[in-house]
Amino acid sequence: QTTRKSMMEPENLLVTLTVLAVVLGIVVGLTTRLASPGERAIMIVGFPGELLMNMLKMLIIPLIVSSLISGLSSLDAKSSGKMGSCALLYYFSTTIAAVILGIILVVIIHPGDPEIKRKGTGEKITARRMPSTLDSFLDLFRNMFPENLIEACFRQTATETVDKNVSYVNETTNETLWSMEESSQLTMLWSTNVLGLVSFSIFFGLIIGQMGDQAVLMVQFFNIMNEIVMRMVKVIMWYSPIGIFFLIVSKILLIKDLTSTAQSLGLYMLTVILGLLIHSCGTLAISFFLLTRRNPVVFFRGIFQAWITALGTASSAATLPITFRCLEENNGIDKRVTRFVLPIGATINMDGTALYEAVASIFISQVNAFQLSFTQIIVVSFTATLAAIGAASVPSAGLVTMILVLSAVGLPTDDISLILAVDWLLDRLRTSINVVGDAFGAGIVDHFCKAELQKQDEEAAAQAKEA
Ligand code: ASP
Repeated sequence: QTTRKSMMEPENLLVTLTVLAVVLGIVVGLTTRLASPGERAIMIVGFPGELLMNMLKMLIIPLIVSSLISGLSSLDAKSSGKMGSCALLYYFSTTIAAVILGIILVVIIHPGDPEIKRKGTGEKITARRMPSTLDSFLDLFRNMFPENLIEACFRQTATETVDKNVSYVNETTNETLWSMEESSQLTMLWSTNVLGLVSFSIFFGLIIGQMGDQAVLMVQFFNIMNEIVMRMVKVIMWYSPIGIFFLIVSKILLIKDLTSTAQSLGLYMLTVILGLLIHSCGTLAISFFLLTRRNPVVFFRGIFQAWITALGTASSAATLPITFRCLEENNGIDKRVTRFVLPIGATINMDGTALYEAVASIFISQVNAFQLSFTQIIVVSFTATLAAIGAASVPSAGLVTMILVLSAVGLPTDDISLILAVDWLLDRLRTSINVVGDAFGAGIVDHFCKAELQKQDEEAAAQAKEA
């Protein structure tokens, strides 16, 4: 009876429904594939999922702005300094660990087969502006300080890449492994300059925090706004199983050739998946346990809903509202911590993407029989870290920023088309690890800043008593 009762608790019921949605989505997607539905039918099937993505995306800007401002205005300088440095240290060390792991695995497994050759009349991948390495580096800072805040909410920061009439064949067997038709293209449809909004909100929140009584109304405004957005998230979460179900079905229907790409790129996919597994179950979980003495499995259970949403949406920004709720409601993370570190984490902390960038670029070098020197491998690790920090938290953003890694070591950027074949899967897997990394990071920061926050609460209580 107790088990049935706990199953019916809202949080557990939601997780159960979401798992059911994923399983059903896979089964229905695979069976419907047999009927080879047309593009229009797939679009209609994907519509409820598109609505979920829109609902989540709709909340991103108000959520990021209100949570950062209300979070920072409630912190004293000492606590925010400690929290910020703790989070940044964690983000950089785990991202670099992910890149190194990726490089080690791809060098050992060596998934790149030099027999694979690019064929066809292929128009080159055309980027609206093909940035140099230095340019991309400077762009990161340009985005951090947008010249126009309103524009930052609309700006398309990503590049559009198109590649047509290209196929990849195995030279020995003459077998076609993957071909891009006329309509195949990779387009970044939306991308807010989140980094710009984050830096503005941090600045704004810190100043408000110093203004004391003068800014009380403003603080209340952002606190209430944050509360409203979180309540909206709570409602949307109940729609998420339906949205995720349809997202999965339509994605499965959209996959082109399931078997031949699996054969040719299987080892490459395996390398990325193995890396993501080792990084999440090893580096992230163990460091979490060692630093906080909390059980990482129990912690992961608390963020399960966010993990699945990341798998369904392939966007850590779209998942952010759910990550907030999971950490605050299920894992008891202090709201001041989540409000401060989660928006930053979702924007710059992408361990899965960093690992993926390193594996994919070295895979492309192996396919082209291009021997990378030790210095070039160092350049790959540096640019992969940068590319992950700079990638927008939207689907396939990592593919676009990979141009930076490839061009830094002189590899053909056209070959992004080859790995595009399996990005529908790898994107959601790396996104889910990006989200797990952000969540564990918030747990660690919460652990280390507890004492400061408690002290701040006690001082506030004492002050209130005096007054
Ligand atoms: N889709 C990823 C994310 O939102 C970014 C990437 O493409 O790697 O975290």
